Amino acid sequence: MAKKKKRPMTRSETMARIKGKNTKPEVYLRKLLWHEGFRYRIHHKALPGSPDIYLAKYKTAIFVNGCFWHMHENCKHSTIPKTNQNFWKEKFARNVARDCRNHKALLDMGINVIVVWGCEIEEMRKVEQYKEDMLSFIKESIMGNLGLT
Ligand SMILES: [Zn+2]
Repeated sequence: MAKKKKRPMTRSETMARIKGKNTKPEVYLRKLLWHEGFRYRIHHKALPGSPDIYLAKYKTAIFVNGCFWHMHENCKHSTIPKTNQNFWKEKFARNVARDCRNHKALLDMGINVIVVWGCEIEEMRKVEQYKEDMLSFIKESIMGNLGLT
């Protein structure tokens, strides 16, 4: 029996998937935190960078960053496309600078900033121990802002 081949995604579909809100990694992390009893707002537009997850009680913003768009350092997913290299380099540099500005603005407001990378989420989905370790790290970072740990 011939296997049905999946239609390859078009470039714009790929982009939407990588860049879009409510991406799988983001939803995955949200669900985990919800199960841990955390309550939050998503895509809080009034805050710099509209954090993917904002825990008001803990004054903590969490960004789930795609490794490609946000140039995760030393990460295999952080690559520069072969064509139009200058365009991509400038674009990525702008993204990174924007992230930096937003994080600083949040910190200045007394808001704790946590960045979780796409590749970390990927690993969490695959390796149970890694998931537990990451989750306790994230929880500690959240509570840490109020000196609760
Ligand atoms: Zn990465």
